[in-house]
Amino acid sequence: MNEEMLNLKPSKVFYYFNEITKIPRPSKREEKMSLWLEATGKKLGLETKRDKVGNVLISKPATPGKENVTPVVLQAHMDMVCEKNNDKVFDFDKDAIETYIDGEWLKAKGTTLGADDGIGVAMALAVLDDKELEHGPIEALFTIDEETGLTGAKAVEAGFMNGKMLLNLDSEDEGQFFIGCAGGQDTVAKVPVDYEPVEGDCEFFKVEVKGLQGGHSGDDINKGRGNAVKLLARILWNSYSYHDLRVADINAGNLRNAIAREGYAIVAVPKEEVEEWKAYIAEMDKTYKAEFHTTDPGVTVTVEPAPAVKEVLEETLQIDVLNALVVCPHGVAAMSQDIPGFVETSTNLASVKIVDGEVVFTTSQRSSVESKKAAIVDKVSTTFWMIGADVENSDGYPGWNPNPNSEAVRVLTEAYRNLFHKDPEVLAIHAGLECGLFSEKYPDMDMVSFGPTLRGVHSPDEKLEIKTVQMCWDLMVEFFKLLK
Ligand SMILES: [Zn+2]
Repeated sequence: MNEEMLNLKPSKVFYYFNEITKIPRPSKREEKMSLWLEATGKKLGLETKRDKVGNVLISKPATPGKENVTPVVLQAHMDMVCEKNNDKVFDFDKDAIETYIDGEWLKAKGTTLGADDGIGVAMALAVLDDKELEHGPIEALFTIDEETGLTGAKAVEAGFMNGKMLLNLDSEDEGQFFIGCAGGQDTVAKVPVDYEPVEGDCEFFKVEVKGLQGGHSGDDINKGRGNAVKLLARILWNSYSYHDLRVADINAGNLRNAIAREGYAIVAVPKEEVEEWKAYIAEMDKTYKAEFHTTDPGVTVTVEPAPAVKEVLEETLQIDVLNALVVCPHGVAAMSQDIPGFVETSTNLASVKIVDGEVVFTTSQRSSVESKKAAIVDKVSTTFWMIGADVENSDGYPGWNPNPNSEAVRVLTEAYRNLFHKDPEVLAIHAGLECGLFSEKYPDMDMVSFGPTLRGVHSPDEKLEIKTVQMCWDLMVEFFKLLK
């Protein structure tokens, strides 16, 4: 059933991709794939290494006369995202992906296709297997677990590869070259909860901010979208200042790497303030709709009666929590000095919740510049140190700072112009890529990322535009021809 793929061009790339679809390779369970890659390298008669996490490196010597050309690493990740439609009976640990051709596209029946990044693996293997291609020394690096933590790339030890340039084959738009990405780190702050009895005659409400778009904390951070944590905090801070509102519970935002879409607080409002306070809330509903009329036209602020509670946050704690939420930075902190329109540094105030007797604030920071990442982490941490919180910073992962003078990008761009008579787009992304992790142990590695066009990645709609595979192959061949 898969065999119709074998008529596609370039035939060696699709031969290998077809083989790969038969081998299970969910993230963190790549052993079969890792062993198969090792066996394939050996079968080709090439020097093959497998490190302790399962990354595989296969080395192919230069063709005669090209021994002094810059050594190049072709890199792709061997794991895939395993998503299927509800009605599809499929075992990702055993079954072969069922591919089919639909016009210009290669697709899978009811599951992810795994062209992210199986097609990158196949292109690298096709280079290793090619007897005609002329090139300098080549290594192919196949990493594990890109999709759920970049742990394969992180584990690649210094000295494992000898290449000076690295072509990452994991981008999803033909015609786009990526030359930088952001590193990331999480900052989580906790303060113990302290309660006190509700005083005076109060009414109780649930006040809620919802209907925001949210989005990815990296890719979407520059879109100006509302953050439910910030919008809720602004309301609560003013409600305390002007209407003596007290907070009994607060819960806003969800995932660390998402912009908060909704949040609520359970509050106590003195009876004599209720009417004015409700008018203020109605006003804020209008204000937010006006402020976010383009990015989040669906934003609403609502109030509904809530069951009475006996206790609210102790007053100085409430003040601390609301002050920290109002002051804590969120959004873009700096744009790139080298690439127009590229976000260099940002932070996401992801969530605030009361969990197991603590108020927990979760945030994440990103930057393509390590020192700037450290600075924004310190800034966010300080916001919470000022209220006496316990602050924990995750290990994080490094960014890949765009190098405007990259020789790899220059040669690849020249190759692209020669073939297609136009310029590629040269971009950076404000999210993590494996290249960021390589730059830690190989600071001088000259890197660029590109690949054929994929759509619907990480879902059963994943599809590969067939003709762009030939284009990427030709681009690699031309690159090898031009490289000195
Ligand atoms: Zn990928």
